[in-house]
Amino acid sequence: MKLVFLGPPGAGKGTQAKLLTEKMQLAHLSTGEMLRQAVKDQTPLGLQVKSILDAGQLVSDQLVVDLMRERLKQADCKKGYILDGFPRTLAQGEALTKMLDESGQKIDQAIYFEVSGDELTERLANRRGAEARTDDSVETQLERLRVYEEQTRPLVDYYQGQALLSHVPATGGIDQVFNKLLAVLKTKA
Ligand code: AMP
Repeated sequence: MKLVFLGPPGAGKGTQAKLLTEKMQLAHLSTGEMLRQAVKDQTPLGLQVKSILDAGQLVSDQLVVDLMRERLKQADCKKGYILDGFPRTLAQGEALTKMLDESGQKIDQAIYFEVSGDELTERLANRRGAEARTDDSVETQLERLRVYEEQTRPLVDYYQGQALLSHVPATGGIDQVFNKLLAVLKTKA
């Protein structure tokens, strides 16, 4: 099973992805975590992207597409995976479709975690400080939301157009959202 998790920053995609990988044999691929790890390890990639992450902007499509092309070749992806935070732009979505198509594969389902603006602001405020992320300052969070609306939201229509989209209202507790996620999965856990 190959899943794409979509939704604004703070929608709980990462938390839900972790829960689902515990329940099913899936790899959890988070481009955000990969990039943050590279920054922490001060690798050449990390040094290249640090200021972009800190500003809440997106790193280049080329960079993440190359990163994911290599990552998807690794053995743990054979059993299926959840893409959390990738694709993030229409160009990345198209590159992913093409990349999979080249090996006769495709995404099975895109899950759109929907949250109201008010709830998002509250969640982001709660997360601030709790996870010690250097990209969680107020300014950076607002920029990430703006970037999401502008660059990432079009992917909702992209997957809807391919009849791959499922909605999960991401309000309520973590367990409630997880149950809603399980309910929309086409291949049942
Ligand atoms: P996330 O943990 O998914 O919220 O990602 C944290 C940060 O990593 C984002 O604000 C971007 O700077 C960068 N990032 C993660 N995934 C991508 C992506 N697919 N394309 C571009 N930038 C990304």
